[in-house]
Amino acid sequence: MKVYKFGGASVKTADGVRNLHKIIGDEENLFVIVSAMGKTTNALERVFSGLQQGDKAASLSEIEELRSYHQAIIDDLWRKPAKLPRVEALFAELEKVATETDYRVEDAELWYDTIVAYGELLSTTIVSEFLNRVGIANAWIDMRKVILTEQRHKDAAVDIEASKPLLRAAVEAAPEHIYIGQGFIGAAPDGTTTTLGREGSDYSAAVVANILGAESMSVWKDVDGVLNADPKIFPDAVKIDELHYLDAIELAYSGAQIIHPKTIKPLQNKNIPLYVRPFGDKRKPGTVIRGMLAPVQIPILILKKNQVLLTLRSRDFSFVLEEKFSKIFGLMDRFRLKVNLIHNSAVQLSLCVDNTWHIEEAVQALREEGFDVMKLSDMELLTIRGYTPELFEKYAFGKEVFIRQTTQSTVRIIRRRV
Ligand code: ASP
Ligand code: MG
Repeated sequence: MKVYKFGGASVKTADGVRNLHKIIGDEENLFVIVSAMGKTTNALERVFSGLQQGDKAASLSEIEELRSYHQAIIDDLWRKPAKLPRVEALFAELEKVATETDYRVEDAELWYDTIVAYGELLSTTIVSEFLNRVGIANAWIDMRKVILTEQRHKDAAVDIEASKPLLRAAVEAAPEHIYIGQGFIGAAPDGTTTTLGREGSDYSAAVVANILGAESMSVWKDVDGVLNADPKIFPDAVKIDELHYLDAIELAYSGAQIIHPKTIKPLQNKNIPLYVRPFGDKRKPGTVIRGMLAPVQIPILILKKNQVLLTLRSRDFSFVLEEKFSKIFGLMDRFRLKVNLIHNSAVQLSLCVDNTWHIEEAVQALREEGFDVMKLSDMELLTIRGYTPELFEKYAFGKEVFIRQTTQSTVRIIRRRV
């Protein structure tokens, strides 16, 4: 079994869906995860806002637009005006939820999930019917029946153990060997629809790959693969052929929008390679992410923006800062500060943390514990894995570099935002 994932951008037009068909080619044992078409999820968020604000007309006009957008794709795929009863039924349900729900503020997330889930229900229905039409028999899987999440709406984590028997049974029950399932959605223990957080379809695909013990997972994207840096920040970014899971997690968390950060763990646990491949050209190899420790071939540059550098010094000049570490990190945890770099000397400790709205409270609490605290905002943390002397020269010096930590292969620099 292989798992393929197609994001919203790759199925935003009829040509995109035809291309998906081409990529599936003659695969014989394949689970396909599909996101909502194009910007559908954003539009559904507006349908939800209409419900939230008691503005039925607003919800209905968004739904109308979604209906004609999807209808145009269907007509193009069928090469004639076509009515798909299952699609019509989904729109009817959606309209009903948007206009007849007895909305209460406490249930905001529940209705958000119920509404935005229609994006994936629609896209997979259209893809599945189209594939059937062109001769690829497939089973449409309702992921709300097989992916169980925690009881939490809007960014639920999947309960893999609980989902396992359900998904496996659904796959075994289907006579077809091509499965089409929605990314991004699942169900809570109480049976209501949940979503896994925006861009969560990658995570869905990884969960499916984990449960079915897939030989590989491929994400088909509008890029050639994973780049070694964000091209918007580093113009000379190049494609990486092979990446370790851990580097991929670092890249994902650093905001390099390659894959959803939650995607890696379920794959790593089963040692399943993840291919990031260009949907425009099936022959190109893309990037493979896996557990083999390949030596870094090209340096990877990861820039974490919006950092704050806190420098702590004990007010009584005690030189045994170690004793105070547990107190300091206890506070970091209490105020949910994410520490990205630690640098210490005998008398002071510097912490580079993500900027959040709890920083002021944390600084206050540290001062109450007897520390002098200096806070520098507008900082960035640049990590270069596998640096070269040139990159070291270029980035690790200069007056805006506040802290520089080097190991044999990695240099980390805290610098003023540039
Ligand atoms: N359709 C959802 C979103 O746009 C999930 C995804 O695309 O992965 O966030
Ligand atoms: Mg999307």
